[in-house]
Amino acid sequence: MNSPVNETKITLLSRSCNESYARVAAAAFVAQLDPTVEELGDIKTAVSEAVTNCIVHAYRDEIGPVTITVSLYEDRRVRIRVRDRGCGIANVRQAMQPLFTTGGEERAGLGFAVMQSFTDRVRVRSAPGRGTTVTLEKTLQKR
Ligand code: ATP
Ligand code: MG
Repeated sequence: MNSPVNETKITLLSRSCNESYARVAAAAFVAQLDPTVEELGDIKTAVSEAVTNCIVHAYRDEIGPVTITVSLYEDRRVRIRVRDRGCGIANVRQAMQPLFTTGGEERAGLGFAVMQSFTDRVRVRSAPGRGTTVTLEKTLQKR
């Protein structure tokens, strides 16, 4: 993918009160492309799932940094990277299966499935003990 037309990067602590800030901040930046209300909602939902995973899984018993990079491309492609330096995921393929969770009864194991259904592409790079990067891609409709 060639270089973005516009880009922002924000880092926040993995406190649950920051989840709504992260989702609204990402959506506010994407808003300059004049997306539909539905597209904006999809982006908020996907970012919310990715950031929640950093808060509840990556930094389970600690607080750490979460970096969100939002990149906008010429062809109305939006790329959002959510990166943590937490525990990492040993088996990404398994983690992405619908209903797989290490979160016990409180979790449905549907976060990755939701990210996939609300975006065009989800990629996950992870190293145990080093952290995880989730990349969400969505191309907005022409307006
Ligand atoms: P739900 O999202 O429905 O509340 P969940 O978070 O368990 O449940 P997913 O979001 O699909 O479901 O994630 C599946 C599993 O992948 C998690 O249970 C966790 O083990 C692992 N995981 C996801 N994101 C991360 C992350 N950033 N760091 C470490 N582990 C993660
Ligand atoms: Mg989740």
